[in-house]
Amino acid sequence: MNYNSKIVKVKKDPGHGSHIPPIYMTSTFVFNNVQEGADRFAGTDSGFMYTRLGNPTVRELEEKVAELEFAEGCLAFSSGMAAITGCLMGILQAGDQLIAHTALYGATHAFITKTLKKFGVEVTLVPFKTAEELEPHITARTKAIYFETPSNPTLSLVDIKSVADLAKQNGILTVVDNTFLSPYLQNPLLLGIDIVVHSATKYLSGHGYLIGGLVVANNHIIDPMRKEVQKNMGAVMSPMDAWLLYQGIRTLHIRMDRSQENAKILAERLEKHAAIKEVFFPGLSSFADNEIMQKQMKGPGAMISFVVNGGYEAGVRLMNNVKLCTLAVSLGDVGTLIQHPASMTHAIIPKEERETAGIWDGLVRFSVGIEDVEDIWTDLEAALS
Ligand SMILES: *Cc1c(COP(=O)(O)O)cnc(C)c1O
Repeated sequence: MNYNSKIVKVKKDPGHGSHIPPIYMTSTFVFNNVQEGADRFAGTDSGFMYTRLGNPTVRELEEKVAELEFAEGCLAFSSGMAAITGCLMGILQAGDQLIAHTALYGATHAFITKTLKKFGVEVTLVPFKTAEELEPHITARTKAIYFETPSNPTLSLVDIKSVADLAKQNGILTVVDNTFLSPYLQNPLLLGIDIVVHSATKYLSGHGYLIGGLVVANNHIIDPMRKEVQKNMGAVMSPMDAWLLYQGIRTLHIRMDRSQENAKILAERLEKHAAIKEVFFPGLSSFADNEIMQKQMKGPGAMISFVVNGGYEAGVRLMNNVKLCTLAVSLGDVGTLIQHPASMTHAIIPKEERETAGIWDGLVRFSVGIEDVEDIWTDLEAALS
């Protein structure tokens, strides 16, 4: 079946034949007799027991995402951070070394550098694009390598296959946060990565109505994680959210296609605009990591970052003057979202440190939606002048 058809497909309802799968809004499941309950707990009967241990609506979502990421399994969590922290707690133990990229989502960076350290995991942060820069940091205790590509908010890329190859040679697990592209535009598992994590809050949901997270991998990783992490840590996705997410996913390809088309047009126009100093967008020929993009992405995505002339004040002025674009953090919504990292998401980081990471005072992060591109451009142009 074609990938786009897999996105849209719904599973047949075995109950009453409803076209859209029902929501199993229940905390627990009834056993017909003691033997059935015993068999389910023993694992010899695959029926459901209690929603923290598994729920039909959540399971259906997990199966769809696994299919879209070319994996055997998937675990759904209550947020992207629950998925990321659960995954790392599941694969690491005291004494292990974790190598992570320096450019990480803020909460991931804080969890790795504060919480994981507290539990005796040695953390090494490295800025890398390929395996070459990583290799010197690998030790006998390196258990996992963690990164995002494209990264937040500068959209710089990591060569996924080169890192996966190096990790495999050394028996190291690899984890990629694939939130910025979604499974429609990038499939790290096909390039040799072991685990993919998603904030499903973003492109997968697409409609800004839920918070959710996913861990996707093959069963030798997913099965123990389901039994230990998901069941005992308990940050599971609710059946209602799983159902909403499932329905959101069914338009993933057309949402991504339209957002991406819009983003290409806007990035090219922004690059020529007199008020703009620099545009970061993987789809521009001027983009520094263009070569890596060609190797591993099916498209540039729909996130653009750009630097306005006039620094902090100009960034703030732009934010306060847009009308169609919504001033909000998050991304991947059908509506265009705009935010100013220096005054918002990255304001707690000292200016000097921000700038070393490429987060200039005039940097604006732009999540392009599916509106008419001319309306978005008119709004931006008016706000820029
Ligand atoms: C939003 C985001 C997260 C965190 O996800 P939540 O659903 O907000 O917990 C992690 N990684 C990236 C890249 C994100 O954009």
